[in-house]
Amino acid sequence: MSSRPSARLDLFSRHLAPNKPFLELNTPFSTERAAHLEDPQGNIIRTKPAQQPAIEQEQEQKAAQVQPEEPATMSSQPSHPALMIPGPIEFDDAVLQSMSHFSESHVGQPFVNIFGEVLTGLRKLFQTTDPASQPFVVSGSGTLGWDQVAANLCEPGDEALVLHTGYFADSFADCLETYGVKVTQLKAPIGDRPQLDEVEKALKEKKYKIITVTHVDTSTGVLSEVRALSELVHRVSPETLVVVDGVCSVGCEEIRFDDWKLDVVLTASQKAIGCPAGLSIIMVSGRAMEVFKARKTRPTSYFGSWKNWLPIMQNYEAKKPSYFATPSPQLVRALHTSLTQILSRPLEQRFAEHKAASQRVKKAISDFGLKQLASKPENQANGMTAIYLPEGISPPDVLPSLLKKGVVFAGGLHRDIASKYVRFGHMGVSVTDPNRTDIDKAIEALKESLVEVGYSA
Ligand SMILES: *Cc1c(COP(=O)(O)O)cnc(C)c1O
Repeated sequence: MSSRPSARLDLFSRHLAPNKPFLELNTPFSTERAAHLEDPQGNIIRTKPAQQPAIEQEQEQKAAQVQPEEPATMSSQPSHPALMIPGPIEFDDAVLQSMSHFSESHVGQPFVNIFGEVLTGLRKLFQTTDPASQPFVVSGSGTLGWDQVAANLCEPGDEALVLHTGYFADSFADCLETYGVKVTQLKAPIGDRPQLDEVEKALKEKKYKIITVTHVDTSTGVLSEVRALSELVHRVSPETLVVVDGVCSVGCEEIRFDDWKLDVVLTASQKAIGCPAGLSIIMVSGRAMEVFKARKTRPTSYFGSWKNWLPIMQNYEAKKPSYFATPSPQLVRALHTSLTQILSRPLEQRFAEHKAASQRVKKAISDFGLKQLASKPENQANGMTAIYLPEGISPPDVLPSLLKKGVVFAGGLHRDIASKYVRFGHMGVSVTDPNRTDIDKAIEALKESLVEVGYSA
């Protein structure tokens, strides 16, 4: 691309040109992806309202059944574009249906039993059998996991080493600083990860209370080497707690909480676990719980305080009613269904399927002449792919046409290069359900959309 400022400006603002409808980038600052789109004649297409009368929905489903070009891949859900972003992801029908459970008391025995089973199931998902490990499920999104770490494991003035592989490390660092933690970031060039010798050097220069690593940075598709990092920390700085942001990895990347000696793995319900958004899910080691219990100051959050949540989680797991703040019975039931499905098959098989799907996507885009942000194979995530667009093409040139083909991708998220790439999520039922064709459809749609705007492989 030309580096003339006017040419750059032109590229950035081409979606604002008067002959094209306004379409914002999917960035943390503007997430409206499909405000309005145009059909081939340039008319504005309005997307269907989310709330449809039941009868209309039924008619539509009947109509879909007789249309041969509408494959029966979307199960019993109303026909909709395949959501192929790195979370939220497509739902399994049963997960979705668990949410339409009648209203029930959050301290009633049926719900308490379900919550208890969820906590036990999470131990299996994170591969921990150590009874000292403590799972927490709290209403909130993945971000609340950062707050929980900052408010419970750190005290103001503590030092944290944050390994940076993209946007999410900046935000985790910002969160830690909000709680008075002193943060040192170790940054890698875009698409790469900090190398072990650099981490070792940093650990020897200063004593850190925690080190944080983003297992999969969703802004770059970079996979971190969590196991090797944890080994390094335990060798060089054994008192430092190993904190893993697994929001985009738990459920699609291998994680062995006990074997890898991890102290915190935090995640959210809506990424590879395949639930609706709304739950912050965390596993904390016995060692980290001891650090928490030895605090000199009280936790710096009220809602996120483990002092408040620990007895609740312990009681729920023992199937005893307990109350600190009202959980969401519907979301917890959805998580119960999704965990039951995930754990009904060997986890190794689930990870292998995600790897195979990822390889298929990565091969297809590379055969088509496209490059990934994560250029080294060992750095590449298995649940998503961040793809550079050809020169001169930006996300607003392809996202609307992808949507018209029934596929939703995400735009760029890394500040420095947001207008140069798109993100393709391949997690959960889109990978594991053999009846779904989401991934192949997405690959084909991406190729066609690029050809439409003038790209030739
Ligand atoms: C999505 C994501 C988050 C933030 O989770 P929210 O549920 O959006 O709050 C944090 N870290 C990573 C790696 C993520 O992918």
